[in-house]
Amino acid sequence: MTPKLTGPVRVRFAPSPTGYLHVGGARTAIYNQLLVQSLGGAFILRIEDTDRERSDEAMTQQIITAMEWLGVSVDEGPFLQSERLPRHREQAEKLLAAGLAYRDFRTPDEIEEVRRRAHAEGVTLRSLTAEVEPSEAERRVAAGEPSVVRFRMPATEIVVHDLVRGDVSFPPEVHEDFVILRADGSPTYHLSVVCDDIDMGVSLVLRGEDHLSNTPKHIALFEALGATLPDFGHLPLILGADKKRLSKRTGATSVEEFRDQGVLPQALYNYLVLLGWSPGDDREVMARDEIVAAFSADRLGSSASVFDVDKLAWMNTQYMVNLDVQQFLPEVTPFLRAVGLEDHAGTERMNAALELHRVRSANLVELAEQVGIYFGDEVTWDEKLSRKYASKDDQLVAHLEALAQRFAASDFSVEALDRALRDLAEEEELKAGVLIHPTRMALSGSKAGPPLFDLVSLMGRERTAERLAAYGRYLQDLPPIVD
Ligand code: GLU
Repeated sequence: MTPKLTGPVRVRFAPSPTGYLHVGGARTAIYNQLLVQSLGGAFILRIEDTDRERSDEAMTQQIITAMEWLGVSVDEGPFLQSERLPRHREQAEKLLAAGLAYRDFRTPDEIEEVRRRAHAEGVTLRSLTAEVEPSEAERRVAAGEPSVVRFRMPATEIVVHDLVRGDVSFPPEVHEDFVILRADGSPTYHLSVVCDDIDMGVSLVLRGEDHLSNTPKHIALFEALGATLPDFGHLPLILGADKKRLSKRTGATSVEEFRDQGVLPQALYNYLVLLGWSPGDDREVMARDEIVAAFSADRLGSSASVFDVDKLAWMNTQYMVNLDVQQFLPEVTPFLRAVGLEDHAGTERMNAALELHRVRSANLVELAEQVGIYFGDEVTWDEKLSRKYASKDDQLVAHLEALAQRFAASDFSVEALDRALRDLAEEEELKAGVLIHPTRMALSGSKAGPPLFDLVSLMGRERTAERLAAYGRYLQDLPPIVD
């Protein structure tokens, strides 16, 4: 039966440092933290850095930094698994002494041969296990013969009562005696993870589905080591747009990449929470404390979710719009720096520009690019569109000049600018659009953007006058089209 969770819980996030924090891992971390926030207990961070070739301190730090950025903090740790290897070896010795594990002197080639035979004969690998008498094994070890230590799997069905997937049963035939200590004496993942979960008092293991097939091994090890079994839950995979496991092929996969694409941490957090969990109603944009209050493990979904970048962009815009600009100033500043606007970060003018444009940006990169028009000197105009505007009004240059004068005579409030343009259009018997579109192009170099008079007002007297004049010259100088 699926366990009913009661608090307090001791949970952990146990990433192997790979140089970045995968969004799947981040989601696992978030759910673990949420369980503690809603049920009480402790959230532990354990860095599984035993794969020496791939792990180093910088990679570990990267995970911690990414978690901090996302606002996921831990109660205990980080603990480094690599520092606990003597303890893991000690537990392997204990299993060996109790006869629950045995030495295997076969070489990798011999094992391969056994596998082939098992496959050909249609028998299980376990039936071909060649155990050596303990005394004989001791003699061969003393003589310096290399060997691994294998854990003896029980010949019984093992059922994982999974919190997310319900009962998952593993029949005896699939169990294989597995290595817990390699020939060089180093413990394997299975042994290390179980030893650490026992020593850290973990009461619930909530991790990715890719570990489900390891869980029978872990259950058997917990039992052999005389420990109380924790609860288990396996979260479904996150898929890319191609319905395959989210990978670089289909775009960004790590928290760091989304940060660099200008996603706000609050938005990514909210998006990831909803990728496999739902509050049971149609709420989507939810504040942290609202999520904590609504969170419960029984609403974790068991089917894989597709990572929808458009939905994330939508979520990001929601956060950009709903947060106070000051609240995301630290996040937007690096993007302003990238477009040379760092000096303006935090100014009233910049805040007004961010406020005006955020509803039209999917991320901070776009936002920073858009607000550049109020600060830089350069605008580039679209020739094709400019010709189109000119074709609608053969007096366009003169009209823009008149408009500039009226703007200059106004108090530059949104209302006054609006009135100035409409009055002119009416007097000249033009549709307002005939003036609106080229004015927008003149000032911003774009055909779309925020309401025009907000834009003009924020642009200010000087720049507005300069750009309208420069655009008039540009229109005049447009080379004739040669057929
Ligand atoms: N270190 C493992 C990984 O990164 C996770 C182990 C676990 O959660 O049990 O995939």
